[in-house]
Amino acid sequence: MKRYKFWFIAGSQHLYGGDVLRTVESRGAEMAGFFDAELPCGVVFKGTMKTPDDISNCVREANHDQSCAGIIAWMHTFSPSKMWINGLVNLQKPYCHLHTQYNRSIPDSDIDMDFMNLNQSAHGDREHGFINTRLRLARKIVVGYWKDGTVLNGLSSWMRSAVGAAVSRGLKVVRFGDNMRQVAVTEGDKVEAQAKLGWQVNTQPVGRLAEEIAAVTDGEAEALLNAHREKYVFALKDDQYDAALYQTKEEIAIGRILDEQGAEAFTNTFEDLYGMEQLPGLAAQRLMERGIGFGAEGDWKTAAMTRIVKAMTSGMPGGTSFIEDYTYDLEQGRELSLGAHMLEVCPSIAAEKPRIEVHNLSIGDRRPPARLVFEGCPGKAVLASLIDMGGRFRLIIADIEVVKPIYKMPNLPVARVMWRAEPDFVTASQAWIMAGGAHHSVLSYDATPEMLTDWADIMGVETVRISAKTDIETFKRDLFLADIAYKLC
Ligand code: MN
Repeated sequence: MKRYKFWFIAGSQHLYGGDVLRTVESRGAEMAGFFDAELPCGVVFKGTMKTPDDISNCVREANHDQSCAGIIAWMHTFSPSKMWINGLVNLQKPYCHLHTQYNRSIPDSDIDMDFMNLNQSAHGDREHGFINTRLRLARKIVVGYWKDGTVLNGLSSWMRSAVGAAVSRGLKVVRFGDNMRQVAVTEGDKVEAQAKLGWQVNTQPVGRLAEEIAAVTDGEAEALLNAHREKYVFALKDDQYDAALYQTKEEIAIGRILDEQGAEAFTNTFEDLYGMEQLPGLAAQRLMERGIGFGAEGDWKTAAMTRIVKAMTSGMPGGTSFIEDYTYDLEQGRELSLGAHMLEVCPSIAAEKPRIEVHNLSIGDRRPPARLVFEGCPGKAVLASLIDMGGRFRLIIADIEVVKPIYKMPNLPVARVMWRAEPDFVTASQAWIMAGGAHHSVLSYDATPEMLTDWADIMGVETVRISAKTDIETFKRDLFLADIAYKLC
């Protein structure tokens, strides 16, 4: 995360004279140094903005600097906001307005008008807030004393959203095969996705992938597979090792094509496995564990979102996976969802050491594929589903509590995650279905609803939240109002 740099700027003006400006400058540098040490990404002080040219030049440089992932602005003194207009109208990077002040307390006996003129963020940040609002500038507002945990957490979370935006704008998704026949929710406007989100979604021939798999030697695949002896339980009969070896060849081959294309996410489909012996299972799971985005059945939107959420949450302790709502346990009052997929769930969310197993697959018309089988870790998590509404994308974010599965399910040959939805099963399911949420989604223990919402705000994507506070009447009205608002835009 440290290679992403955030620019910290302090707003002021020449009115106050040299002494005040020197103090603003040195405090800005001190605060940037503190943030750089405390936050997951780099923070660089870019100086005190005193004139319209200072601001326009700073924005121009930020737009063109690939390492700059966003700007954090704070008005130490009053900084008249018409000075900021010509710069901000051209801003292409994520923007955070930090509302803080250098001193925590008012110095009771020492406060005088000099102190007031130097320390007037309460005043200057309101002027700055107005111009951002007047310009309809998408931005995050973080409030509090700059050394407090709440401010550091707010900045840290927003930085991760901004990193998600940077990754989104450079993301390439490789599709092996098309969308699953007749499925609607995994479809979408790839031109709109590229214009809005930056995603380059393009096909690579399945036949080429088959050739690439065939070109991987047994020796290469054995070396990689055997390197996992500590990490996974090899629950394989003698005649099943070859199935795991073939999956490892698929992992290597897909990885090579992604590297060659500069891609960080991929899709495939069980309906197009031309020249392949198995549907990628262990292969897709291993690639996800390495940080690659994946979507099954041609679902490029979930593949891209999986990659973006993994990038945003890099270095965090939980995990993130592609997941699918499968079946329910409808005991009234404690209803649970069982999420899984036919193979492809990321082992980063496993509660225990995953087992490599080989089982028959009734779908896909190929040999029994090797896959990792495990239970998801208990804990709070979110589900995120991006859908194409026609004319706009909508990101649906739902709070869930993953529980230890209440059944052993010994004959279920796939990774499984069991969860309780917020606020309750009926409301959450009504809301998800009413909003058009897909059966595919991204499950993350690390990403928070705030982080995902801030990412969507940066990208200009509608968000819909399902949480403990969700009330279905309000929810329904909000969806109706959002439809009108987006028609007006
Ligand atoms: Mn599916």
